[in-house]
Amino acid sequence: MEFRLSDEERAFQEAARRFGDRVLRTHEREIDAQGSIPPEVLGPMAELGLLAMMVPEEYGGMGASAVLTELAAEEVGRGDFSMATAVFFLLEAGWGYVLSRHGSEEAKKELLPPVTSGKAFLGIATTEPGGGSDLAAMRTRVHRDGERFVLTGEKSFVSGVEEARRLGGGHLTLAKVESGGFDFLYVPTRSNGISTQKFENMGRMGISTGGLTYHDVALPPRYLVGPEGKGFEVAMEGFSVARTFVSAACVGAAERALEAGTAYVRERRAFGQPLGKFEAIQFELVDLYTQVEAVKWQCRRAAWLLDEYTLKGDRSHRSEVDLAVASVKLTAPQVAFECVKRVMMWYGAAGYTKDAGLELGLRGIMSYLVGAEGGLNIMRIILGRELLGKEFVPYK
Ligand SMILES: Cc1cc2nc3c(=O)[nH]c(=O)nc-3n(C[C@H](O)[C@H](O)[C@H](O)COP(=O)(O)OP(=O)(O)OC[C@H]3O[C@@H](n4cnc5c(N)ncnc54)[C@H](O)[C@@H]3O)c2cc1C
Repeated sequence: MEFRLSDEERAFQEAARRFGDRVLRTHEREIDAQGSIPPEVLGPMAELGLLAMMVPEEYGGMGASAVLTELAAEEVGRGDFSMATAVFFLLEAGWGYVLSRHGSEEAKKELLPPVTSGKAFLGIATTEPGGGSDLAAMRTRVHRDGERFVLTGEKSFVSGVEEARRLGGGHLTLAKVESGGFDFLYVPTRSNGISTQKFENMGRMGISTGGLTYHDVALPPRYLVGPEGKGFEVAMEGFSVARTFVSAACVGAAERALEAGTAYVRERRAFGQPLGKFEAIQFELVDLYTQVEAVKWQCRRAAWLLDEYTLKGDRSHRSEVDLAVASVKLTAPQVAFECVKRVMMWYGAAGYTKDAGLELGLRGIMSYLVGAEGGLNIMRIILGRELLGKEFVPYK
């Protein structure tokens, strides 16, 4: 067992932290206020290799391991506290990986280089107005018309709808086929027959969330991702990867909150001494620190499992991977939210101001508690299924 990072990993982690400190922190308020991530952020991100970093070099990525990507996700979550850049980062990382692993050669050559250079957006569309947790109840349909795939239906609460319209790009989209299985297809947002809608969110304002309606959208066969009828399995592989990076971004945000809180309670005085001398506060800091450390290593182990098995196409440890990923996606957002909330309270009234900057994190992390990348109870259902057996879970 080796907990020490390699020299290469440490150097990349340090470079990502410098990028977070110099670029992301400088722009996070602007990202939140303007509702988009500016080129001054996306450009350096692409230069550093932070866009779709697991994509092989031949398609413009850096062929990074899941562990290296996890380390970078921590730094992006720490740098832009609003989580908007983290969402952009992890969507490209997770779904870029899936496209590079399961997409057709033609699609990879066409679609991935613009994503890794920040010139196009790549996201995921599974959720529908009728619900996101129960994917079996999905209503969006796809059928073959000769060579082409034809898509009808509607997706909802999809991240990056505006970005894909503005920059170019699209979403890997799950749709049901006649036989009852699923196809997974790349759908360019600017295709004929697509209309979009933008939702007003409360947080992570720098990346849009919206709806997509498909009116007989025709797609070429090269946009099929994975085998026909097996799209569900391919999408689930992507969720394992993306959920690990969501969790890593939450670890980064939690560490940032605790750093700010530690500095504050060293300085702020009440009743003649620094707040940090009151055990009520010091012990809270200690408890939060231990929780963040635990979840950080859980996260790195999940990434390691992905490298060891999932990324090699080895499903022999599927249960171990599912347990690790669902555990960390269940825990990390809750720990991060608690850290920000507690630190806000140490700040007192100052914590409630925008100057403190803490509300940015609270609004962003909340998206992972309500459901982004799968709700907490869905993680519990996955864990229950793995711990007790399928027969104890009354869902498909
Ligand atoms: C900011 C944001 C960005 C998002 N981006 C994307 C995206 O890019 N692409 C995409 O496809 N989706 C996206 N989503 C949607 C997300 O995947 C869904 O929110 C999630 O899958 C839950 O679906 P739902 O919101 O329809 O809630 P529902 O499925 O209606 O569930 C509501 C609540 O009930 C709980 N619940 C559901 N079933 C059970 C059960 N059996 N037992 C106990 N509790 C249960 C859920 O955990 C949830 O808390 C995003 C969501 C947010 C908030």
